[in-house]
Amino acid sequence: MRVSLALLLLAASVHASPVKSGPRTIFDLERVGDGVYAAIARRPAPPAVSNAAFIILSDGVLVVDSHLKPEASKVLLREIKKITDKPVRYLVQTHHHSDHVGGNTAFPGAIDIIAHKRTRNRLKRWNPTKARLPDLVLKDEIIFHRGRELQVLYVGRGHTDGDIVVWLPTSKILITGDLLFHGRTIGFMKDGFVGDWIQTMDSLVALKPESVVPGHGPLAGSQDLLAFKSYLIAFLASVQAHFDRGESLEKTLLTYRLPKAYRDWGMQDMALASNIKRVWKEIKRAH
Ligand SMILES: [Zn+2]
Repeated sequence: MRVSLALLLLAASVHASPVKSGPRTIFDLERVGDGVYAAIARRPAPPAVSNAAFIILSDGVLVVDSHLKPEASKVLLREIKKITDKPVRYLVQTHHHSDHVGGNTAFPGAIDIIAHKRTRNRLKRWNPTKARLPDLVLKDEIIFHRGRELQVLYVGRGHTDGDIVVWLPTSKILITGDLLFHGRTIGFMKDGFVGDWIQTMDSLVALKPESVVPGHGPLAGSQDLLAFKSYLIAFLASVQAHFDRGESLEKTLLTYRLPKAYRDWGMQDMALASNIKRVWKEIKRAH
């Protein structure tokens, strides 16, 4: 047991390589599978707040999300070049939030940017980082057959109303965008639909992924999807308890504490008030 754990740790350390921008490491580049890499942000601070990923296809490279700043995207593009001489041809934007789209102006003009139809519409209305708008939009799915099968899927509302995921059915690798915050309570629910999100997590679990690249946090697995789903259920129930006691939203904001089981997860206070407000709105609407 001890030997296999040591081997696993060794394998992990071989695959992860810290990638610097200037003097500071901005993300760790991790090999997730054959021709599949994740850029795991070191800390939630510019230029890379969230994770990105890329997949090598027969005709070029497909990148998933572009970090917050072009500076981070440029570093990512440089790292891709070290691994393959194939051109970057596609950029999938999992949703409209700036920390996932803000770096996309660093990508070559000739690539196709792919997103959900609602993500494009939202970016047309609210685009603080002046990200390039998607060129191709989908409502349900796009399936690539380019040396390997790659699916871009919309599986339901959750973190936003336009979240899409990238699924590689042969290698069983899933790239979730912010449908999964791994080990973090933040969830950033301001644009979310928490009731629907719980069901959407079930659709992701049903794919039976073996490796999961989350929107935030380290590489994950199926059990982490289930853990985050349990957190969403617990968060919803805990706000509901305040509502059911007849407390006002104002009082709830003052007295609320996260459910005990999640108090050691990261990013506790970030967005907590806006998450409570959003869930409160959902509960009120259901009444
Ligand atoms: Zn987000």
